[in-house]
Amino acid sequence: MKKILTFDEKMRIADLAATKLFAPDARPVIFEMDSTAAVALIGQLQLAFRHPENTGRTREITENFVRNLIEQMDPDHGDVYEFLMMGFNPEMDAVSVLCKNCRQFVTIADGHCPNCMESICPRCGCTDSAACSEGCFWLPDGICSSCGSVDLVEQAG
Ligand SMILES: [Zn+2]
Ligand SMILES: [Zn+2]
Ligand SMILES: [Zn+2]
Repeated sequence: MKKILTFDEKMRIADLAATKLFAPDARPVIFEMDSTAAVALIGQLQLAFRHPENTGRTREITENFVRNLIEQMDPDHGDVYEFLMMGFNPEMDAVSVLCKNCRQFVTIADGHCPNCMESICPRCGCTDSAACSEGCFWLPDGICSSCGSVDLVEQAG
C-alpha cells in the first residue's frame, strides 16, 4: 500500500538528501548523451530561462551548465556554437505562420515561404500573390503594411 508522507517526513527526506548531494565529496553525476539529445536538452532549458521569475541560484547553476555544454560541443565557436547560443535570444527564434498563398503552416527564416518560395510577411503570412484582403505593401523590414506599426507606414510613405 502506498504510504502518504506527512510534511515533516518529506522535509526530513529532503534534508537528508541535501546533506548528501551538497557535500563537498558528493559523487559527481557522469553521463553521456548523443548530440541530438544534447540539442533538445539545451533548447528546453533555454526556454525555461525565459520564465521571468526563473532567476534563482538553480537557474544560475543550470545556465552555467548549458553554456559549458555548448562550449564543449563547439570549442572553436563555429556554426554549432552560434546556432545553440541563439536559443538565449528570443529575437532569433524562427517564426511559424500560415502562408496565405500555399496554405501551408511554415517556418520562416529568411523572409520567404520555404514551400512556395514567395516573399512572405512573418506576422500574417501574406505574400505577393496573396496580399491581405484590405490590400497591403511591403515595409522596409520585411513585414507587410497591415502588420507594421503606424510610424513604420508613415516612414514607408
Ligand atoms: Zn507559401
Ligand atoms: Zn502582414
Ligand atoms: Zn499583408
